[in-house]
Amino acid sequence: MIELNEEQRIILNTVKQIATEKIKPMAAEIDEKGEVPMDLIEIFKENGLLAPLIPQEYGGVNSSFLLFSLILEEISKVCASCALILISHADGLLPILHKATPEMKRRYLPGFVKGKIACFAATEPDAGSDIQSMKTRAVRKGDNYIINGKKCFITNASLADTITLFAYTDPDKKTKGISAFAVDKGAKGLTYGKNENKMGMRGCTNCELFFDDVVVPAEKRIGEEGDGVAAMMIALETARMFTASQAVGLAQGAIDEAIRYAKERKQFGRPISGFQAIQFMIADMVANTEAARLLTYQAARYLDQNERSKIPRFCSMAKFIASDNAMRVTTDAVQVMGGYGYMKDNPLERMMRDAKLIQIYAGTNQIMRVVASREVFKRQ
Ligand SMILES: Cc1cc2nc3c(=O)[nH]c(=O)nc-3n(C[C@H](O)[C@H](O)[C@H](O)COP(=O)(O)OP(=O)(O)OC[C@H]3O[C@@H](n4cnc5c(N)ncnc54)[C@H](O)[C@@H]3O)c2cc1C
Repeated sequence: MIELNEEQRIILNTVKQIATEKIKPMAAEIDEKGEVPMDLIEIFKENGLLAPLIPQEYGGVNSSFLLFSLILEEISKVCASCALILISHADGLLPILHKATPEMKRRYLPGFVKGKIACFAATEPDAGSDIQSMKTRAVRKGDNYIINGKKCFITNASLADTITLFAYTDPDKKTKGISAFAVDKGAKGLTYGKNENKMGMRGCTNCELFFDDVVVPAEKRIGEEGDGVAAMMIALETARMFTASQAVGLAQGAIDEAIRYAKERKQFGRPISGFQAIQFMIADMVANTEAARLLTYQAARYLDQNERSKIPRFCSMAKFIASDNAMRVTTDAVQVMGGYGYMKDNPLERMMRDAKLIQIYAGTNQIMRVVASREVFKRQ
């Protein structure tokens, strides 16, 4: 489906090997404990997986969005929450990569290559889909900003060396008054809530962040004052394609488990794969996952080509098609396994719980339909 060059093939084969040999055996334990697998972070670091999108001049690999999408798909086949660590890290670093000053890029990007972790902090208790309702304020005082406010649900927050934070610098200007900042771990006045106890994606951390008179030097503002929403959208559009890749990988992992089981499980004297009811369920799962995969790759290609007229529509469509499909596929895969599918001894019930989150974060699937339909009416 995709032509890869030699270097890309080597990267992808290494990721496949890491996924099957290292991540798959620990996926159930990661889910059970609900903790970030720190061994895995080391594996990501050692194999350059925290920095694929970073240009070579900063020590990165400068991979295409498409290649990173394939990497996320491979990891998500065995552990979607492990892929989420990488997605949230990318969300945090992309605004710096695209909007920060050259000095700031030189300060932060090589660190990410060496294993420092980023997160993306926009959501607040009263500002989810309606991000304009955020209350966090950054007030300029001389060469600094003083930040006060609260963020919630932030993936990687407790791990992150750098928080890419969004706050109002001028609330009267509405979305044009939001700015982005890089806030370093250990900043005075920055405190963390507890790790949220989630239904799924339990291998990554999510917590609240509290900013109480946190002083951030003006040179750590990402882009111009009022440029925050533009910086946010760069990360969010890309994140939507990444979460679509995660959903495609998750669905494929569930299909592989369901087919394996259907061939082995015998009822009425023959494998259940011989029953048309099972065959049709599998056919639908495979067909819809292939369709979601193609749409996701197309969104990734548009990102690589910087096709501005296509990116918002294709990234949002890929996100809702692929994640709604992953929810359906994982639910049906549990059905194929019958009672055994409902037990924690096999990975399908975890995959079903993990799939649910992809319909919610990086913009809910309802909001994705709002974006897609708005773009359709605007351009046709
Ligand atoms: C595990 C997890 C990890 C997350 N990680 C991060 C992170 O790293 N960084 C970050 O900034 N945020 C993060 N989020 C926040 C996430 O992006 C938001 O939860 C999401 O955008 C929805 O916001 P909300 O939860 O406030 O729901 P709400 O916005 O309150 O929505 C509730 C319901 O109303 C619907 N709705 C709202 N507005 C409309 C509308 N205009 N039209 C139709 N339907 C509508 C929604 O679709 C949804 O069904 C995370 C969330 C979770 C659960």
